[in-house]
Amino acid sequence: MDNKLYNASLKDISGGNGGNADMPYKISNDCISCGACAAECPVEAISVGDGKYVIDPERCISCGACADICPVDAPSQE
Ligand code: SF4
Ligand code: SF4
Repeated sequence: MDNKLYNASLKDISGGNGGNADMPYKISNDCISCGACAAECPVEAISVGDGKYVIDPERCISCGACADICPVDAPSQE
C-alpha cells in the first residue's frame, strides 16, 4: 500500500527534451542558418554573427522554442 502511494507521487519533472530549465541553449555546428529560430525566440536572444546563428546566453530564458522549430535540432542545452 505504502509503495503504491509512493510510486504514484513520483513524476518526471524534466522538460520534454530532458534539459535543465536554467541552462541557456547553444546552437551546434549542425545549424544550416535557416533563421527559423531567430524569428521564434521570444526574447530576441538569437542573432547572426559571421554568417552563423548564435544565442546570447545572457538573454536566453531556456524556453526551448528554438529547439522545437529547428529542422536539424541544432539548439540544445549542454
Ligand atoms: S531557448 Fe528560447 S529564449 Fe533561448 S534562444 Fe531558444 S528560443 Fe530564445
Ligand atoms: S532553426 Fe536551427 S538550422 Fe535554422 S538557424 Fe536556427 S539553429 Fe540554425
